[in-house]
Amino acid sequence: MGNAPPALVLPLLRLFSSAVLTTHSMRALEQLNATITRCHRCPRLVRWREAVASKPPRRHLEETYWARPLPGFGDPKARVLIVGLAPAAHGGNRTGRIFTGDRSGDWLYGALYSAGFANQPNSHHRNDGLKLSDCYITAAVRCAPPENKPTLAEFVRCRPYLVQEIKLLAVKVVIALGKIAFDAFITAYSECGGVIPKPRPKFGHGIVVDLPGGPCLICSYHPSQQNTFTGKLTRAMFDRVFDQASSALQK
Ligand code: SF4
Repeated sequence: MGNAPPALVLPLLRLFSSAVLTTHSMRALEQLNATITRCHRCPRLVRWREAVASKPPRRHLEETYWARPLPGFGDPKARVLIVGLAPAAHGGNRTGRIFTGDRSGDWLYGALYSAGFANQPNSHHRNDGLKLSDCYITAAVRCAPPENKPTLAEFVRCRPYLVQEIKLLAVKVVIALGKIAFDAFITAYSECGGVIPKPRPKFGHGIVVDLPGGPCLICSYHPSQQNTFTGKLTRAMFDRVFDQASSALQK
């Protein structure tokens, strides 16, 4: 850089500092994920994640469950962040990867594949070769809760992990899967110092909120069986959310 013309020095410096920051963020994200997978803060969820693993249903009898908290998954340089609720007892809690091994995951990874964010349309276990591009997936709560219902205290205990991810990822678009994930993201985002418009945005499928000076927040119904079996969420509706995300990235 010593012989670079003065007009080029600033852009080169910016490029260099952004590369250093990215490397720093990637290391910090790896450390965060290692911390998450060792977490025992919620006694009820620790008992539950291990109890369901010790008595698997017949279809998973031969498998060794992950039975630990799930770290986020995806591209550390992602511009799109997807926030879900929590892993399923025999889904992510079994496979060790978020949104893997259940029907919700089939919907999510199918939509990501169609939109060009994933290299394959489904994911059944953590070593199946799935790679995400420009997309990172996380959850409000990292351990499988009984009846898919974390308590308020469990949300609060797990929130610092989402806060850290928001700080480390330079995202332009956030997709909240379900109202609970939407609320969890808004709370975590304000803890990061992010500005939430007033009146507070309301959740609804397909609603897009431009957070002032921050990412674009897109709401989607959660691809749970309850929503997909009843037709409340159709493939076309879900695919449209990812089209909205792709369009928001172009802005
Ligand atoms: S839900 Fe979150 S805070 Fe609670 S034990 Fe699991 S990882 Fe830790």
